[in-house]
Amino acid sequence: MEELNFDVVVVGGGPAGSSAAHMAAKSGCTVALIEKEKEIAQTVRTSGVTWISDIKKFGIPEECYNPIKKFSFCSPKNSVKISGEIAKAAVLDVRKTYRFLANRAKTSGSELFTSTNVTEVLKDNTGKCVGVIAKSDGKQIQFNSKVVIDASGFVSVIAKELGYVTQWKKFGAGAEFEVKTEKLEHDNWWLMVGQEYSPAGYAWIFPTSKDTARIGVGIGKPDSDVDPTVRLNELLEKKLGPIKDLGNIEKIEFHYGLIPNDGLSRKTVYDNLILVGDSAGQANPLVLEGIRYAIRFGEVAGQVTADAIKNGDTTEASLNPYEKEWKRAIESKINSAGKVQNRWVGLTDDEWDKELSIIEELTADEFLDFIRADFGVSKMVKLATHHPKMIVRQLFNMVKGT
Ligand SMILES: Cc1cc2nc3c(=O)[nH]c(=O)nc-3n(C[C@H](O)[C@H](O)[C@H](O)COP(=O)(O)OP(=O)(O)OC[C@H]3O[C@@H](n4cnc5c(N)ncnc54)[C@H](O)[C@@H]3O)c2cc1C
Repeated sequence: MEELNFDVVVVGGGPAGSSAAHMAAKSGCTVALIEKEKEIAQTVRTSGVTWISDIKKFGIPEECYNPIKKFSFCSPKNSVKISGEIAKAAVLDVRKTYRFLANRAKTSGSELFTSTNVTEVLKDNTGKCVGVIAKSDGKQIQFNSKVVIDASGFVSVIAKELGYVTQWKKFGAGAEFEVKTEKLEHDNWWLMVGQEYSPAGYAWIFPTSKDTARIGVGIGKPDSDVDPTVRLNELLEKKLGPIKDLGNIEKIEFHYGLIPNDGLSRKTVYDNLILVGDSAGQANPLVLEGIRYAIRFGEVAGQVTADAIKNGDTTEASLNPYEKEWKRAIESKINSAGKVQNRWVGLTDDEWDKELSIIEELTADEFLDFIRADFGVSKMVKLATHHPKMIVRQLFNMVKGT
């Protein structure tokens, strides 16, 4: 078996893995970034909605996204549209963005191994992780490393193989078609709620260009046993709600994926091992949104790993600043978002019609903070105490837990 030595092995070439590899290599480590697919983002498993402020912070170029400034929401008997003056949200070209991130990791010095499927974890005689074994083109490669970063997404191959985690119990399943449309408001997205769209989640139309969009359905598991692919095909056949206004629809590509929704239940550092991105469960549960956290905390994971390696100590205690940092940044936001999600999952169609009337009272910025689960304490207190509309104050009191 071929044997290779690196300071850091990153498993998974998604946004978390590429960002971790970039930062570790930039900080002087030798890094292997390992991806099982033939190319980065060969299979798209995400709708790619994110926020322009984050995109700019990460240095993602403008040609990688379609800006969005209008936010439409519809329930069976209600519909609202919140319009911002400037675009603050975006739908990513997922392949371009993920390839940009992986190329950046390469430019920083990481070695990229595609078509390389990690199948085993290497352990020392105390059971600690010291590398991985992968299959590539029919041959096996042993990658020895000081730290392994598990950025393998929903499946968490490394942490699972080590017996540190089991399969996520609560998760979202999503199916979508990338489509060409006859008529499209290219800077307006649609979220569609109520039983007919999704019995535990929502459906969406996310424009990706002047005449292309992603139409999808997300369903919470185990809350509902409805198959999102079946439901999506039904919606497209019936041309329900705003789908009918798109005119003729031509399917281009099918996407399917799973996203953890178990709150922040996982420990994410062990001796010589860090979990990041979906493997760590770092996503905003309100809208199945994890890309910006995968990139942001991927970078933190890469930096903390490089610091630990420089100090010659890669124990859990030495890697712990990573877990502290990401929990400090998002723990309370994810917990607050969980409360909104619990409320939303239980709504009947009539209640959704009323919920939209509350959402309508939000300004575009308030709506975005809400949907991004950007529930900073001071912002939340302000909305819960001073918002001119009582129903909005009540909503934010619920998020605060009062
Ligand atoms: C239907 C759906 C819609 C979504 N929509 C949005 C959205 O609009 N906005 C948003 O921000 N987030 C969205 N998300 C979530 C988002 O996609 C994830 O949070 C994000 O991709 C996490 O990045 P990651 O790098 O942790 O994992 P991933 O992107 O899943 O990357 C993991 C990588 O690891 C590779 N891998 C796995 N096993 C191995 C192995 N054994 N060996 C080598 N490589 C391996 C995989 O091939 C993959 O490339 C959505 C998710 C789903 C399912």
